Amino acid sequence: MQEQLKQLQQEALDKIEQAQELKELNDIRVAYLGKKGPITEVLRGMGKLSAEERPVMGALANEVREAIATAITSKQEHLEQIAVEQKLAKETIDVTLPGRPVRVGNHHPLTAVLEEIEDLFLGMGYQIAEGPEVETDYFNFEALNLPKGHPARDMQDSFYITEELLLRTHTSPVQARTMEKHEGKGPVKIICPGKVYRRDNDDATHSHQFTQIEGLVVDENIRMSDLKGTLEVFAKKMFGEEREIRLRPSFFPFTEPSVEVDVSCFSCGGKGCNICKGTGWIEMLGAGMVHPNVLQMAGFDPEKYSGFAFGIGAERIAMLKYGVDDIRHFYTDDVRFLKQFKRA
Ligand SMILES: [Zn+2]
Repeated sequence: MQEQLKQLQQEALDKIEQAQELKELNDIRVAYLGKKGPITEVLRGMGKLSAEERPVMGALANEVREAIATAITSKQEHLEQIAVEQKLAKETIDVTLPGRPVRVGNHHPLTAVLEEIEDLFLGMGYQIAEGPEVETDYFNFEALNLPKGHPARDMQDSFYITEELLLRTHTSPVQARTMEKHEGKGPVKIICPGKVYRRDNDDATHSHQFTQIEGLVVDENIRMSDLKGTLEVFAKKMFGEEREIRLRPSFFPFTEPSVEVDVSCFSCGGKGCNICKGTGWIEMLGAGMVHPNVLQMAGFDPEKYSGFAFGIGAERIAMLKYGVDDIRHFYTDDVRFLKQFKRA
């Protein structure tokens, strides 16, 4: 029996020595130390032994078990260590390799132009006002001197949602909303940048959604010359210090008088070229003195207060500034187009 146990121990230790994987070790553990293993089997035969022999054999059996268990544990630690080392070797990072290039994006040209215009007017003491894109008929039209049935409503084809709600056709309703909040007390000095919507067929110069920046100043003694001076600063900042502007009479229902504002051509300096269509001037924006009806509807006394307003098309400014020939480039997310505008 003693011989048998010694033999089992040697056999187990040999197998442990040769084991290459943790699973193999576990199989050995089950085979030799398990309830159905050969050592248990040997111990079952102890009943036949004499009272003197029994404790000796018991002690020996325990020694054998112990030896096998210890060998398994130590081999297990060894195998685990090897596994960790292999994993580390496989996942080694070569820190001397050059990194993958990170692609840095840049501002969308429209965003860049908007921010430039906002900075300019903030520097002149204006505040930025915002309003909803889904607007009521009242703020979009009526409060701006465009009562229902007014023929000039046709100048702006609209997306109506219900009879009283529409996608705003300009950012002018923000003016009306802001003036109402002032409860008849000046000064009001705001710009309102935002998206506007019109039922236009999209082509090189038209888009059913575009971006407008409305400007409004209301105070005592605001004159046409204040408007001209302000827009001159704007034109010079956007298109160069040598630029001049000219005002031409025009019509908008919410301003009286109304003007169309041109800037002297930045390409030919006024001699005439294809950008200015030979005239030396480029249409820049529409503006005018706030109509007394608009002041009155917003709660301002037109006898005491006057004001001017202007509406800048951000796409038009961006197209002129960057020489973009199709408004749709701004909305089609073509990376080849967008990556030409480098971060400043
Ligand atoms: Zn020109």
